[in-house]
Amino acid sequence: MWSRRSWLRAPAAIAWVVLALAVAAGCSTAAESAKPVAAQPAKSAEAVRQEAADRAEARRHWVPPRFISRQAERNAMVRLIERYGLTDKTVLGVMAAVPRHEFVPDRLSASAYADTPLPIGHGQTISQPYIVAEMTAQLRLRSDSKVLEIGTGSGYQAAVLAHITPHVYTIEIVKPLAEAAEQRLRRLGYDVVEVRYGDGYNGWPEAAPFDAIIGTCVAGKVPPPLIEQLKAGGRMVIPIGEENAIQRLMLIEKDAAGKVRKQSLMPVRFVPLLRKDPTAK
Ligand code: SAH
Repeated sequence: MWSRRSWLRAPAAIAWVVLALAVAAGCSTAAESAKPVAAQPAKSAEAVRQEAADRAEARRHWVPPRFISRQAERNAMVRLIERYGLTDKTVLGVMAAVPRHEFVPDRLSASAYADTPLPIGHGQTISQPYIVAEMTAQLRLRSDSKVLEIGTGSGYQAAVLAHITPHVYTIEIVKPLAEAAEQRLRRLGYDVVEVRYGDGYNGWPEAAPFDAIIGTCVAGKVPPPLIEQLKAGGRMVIPIGEENAIQRLMLIEKDAAGKVRKQSLMPVRFVPLLRKDPTAK
């Protein structure tokens, strides 16, 4: 698509250069199996079922929060994303609604609406707004879509998704980031988003299948559990390639018969998909 419209290369090139500066990998020590961020005492099966039912009910009535401060900066950011060629009105509206300044470290708050990735600690980054918007648009979400994100990071992408559908599940492998993102999302009113600390490579089997899956860290190949957990008719957007090398943003579609089709969308630069929490003791 972008070979015919060369101006679309601009953001991809910016993503490449800026992320090249921002990328820093971490790797090591014991992986824990995926589990909710907040440790809780064991619950009876009935209590777990009731809680799930309560959450489903809350989702049905949920209305995304609204934010007033720094609206002019968000509007300017959206105009830029539009100039890059993104025309999806729903996604542009969402990008104008989510307060990115709440998802970046305080010391970087002044740069929150620049169209660049920014460091969020532990060698990780919040993605470039244009890329967040493009990936969100590629998922073609409906208001009842169930979506899985691999790489919660700051929680910004999850908040963007939540404005379109309240059925958002997100996994983060760096525990302090998972905890901070969960707290931030609750504080801002994105309480419907389910955050889990763990290795997103394995997906979220209990919540599967998903209408859409979005990977925000790069892997050498698409993790097979994610393909399995994609619904027939579902869409996955995920960067594939090597760390610090050429990566392609891939669209993976599963048709009604379960056949998988892969398509390269654009060159990108993402932090790597880790298999172990670098902060784990
Ligand atoms: N979507 C984020 C940006 C994420 S950067 C945002 O909106 O802020 C990529 C994230 O993926 C990092 O936080 C990194 O820790 C996380 N990550 C890397 N490997 C992972 C894995 N195997 N499972 C889950 N998260 C992973």
